[in-house]
Amino acid sequence: MKNNNKQFAVIGLGRFGSSIATTLFKLGHEVLAIDMNEEQVQKISETVTHVVQADTTDENSLKALGIRNFDVVVVAIGEDIQSNVLTTLLLKELGVKYIVAKARTELHGKMLTKIGADRVVYPERDMGLRVAHNLVSTNVLEYIELSPDLSVAEITAPKILVGRSLAETNLRVKYELNVVAIKRNEALIVPPPSDEKIRTGDILILIGQSKGIQKMEELE
Ligand code: ADP
Repeated sequence: MKNNNKQFAVIGLGRFGSSIATTLFKLGHEVLAIDMNEEQVQKISETVTHVVQADTTDENSLKALGIRNFDVVVVAIGEDIQSNVLTTLLLKELGVKYIVAKARTELHGKMLTKIGADRVVYPERDMGLRVAHNLVSTNVLEYIELSPDLSVAEITAPKILVGRSLAETNLRVKYELNVVAIKRNEALIVPPPSDEKIRTGDILILIGQSKGIQKMEELE
């Protein structure tokens, strides 16, 4: 086991929660997976450190699990917003050090932050954004919104830019975008020098104004 191995608890073993739990376990961390549904608990039992069937809206169950000793607790309950919020609240009250909670809407997310979640994630929204951008332009491989105005995107270099150096593309002025890295086959050029010429098949990793990224998506 690595020295930096952490203890995680993941509550709610739907698609999102079970994916987090098994990935953390594969990365070498200790993972306690919790769900009130016996079937979900059984499904995941081989791919995490421990599994427990419990209703996490019950304070005593949480206490019995020693939940406050975990480094990070992920609340991945999705459908049932009330259970999601109540679980987060109880975790906070019990003194959990770092709580990550899954939100379905912006309002739900705000509520989780107010209650004391240290990090709020929006997996459905983020995936929806990514898929939508990819549908509009097949050049877009990844899309992450950092704020309403600022995004990071991974875009296959449009043909019109091939053969030009980064300086010549003038993306910084034209679209308020910075190319932070270029992926070329297996190599990652980071940071790319301004005289680096873009080649066919290059993947540009861009950060900047969402509007600028949208304009880049429209280039052929
Ligand atoms: P996803 O959309 O990621 O598939 P779901 O909302 O379908 O997520 O799944 C959430 C899981 O959380 C379900 O397996 C459900 O049994 C579990 N769950 C819901 N409420 C509680 C609770 N109070 N305590 C423990 N687990 C819960």
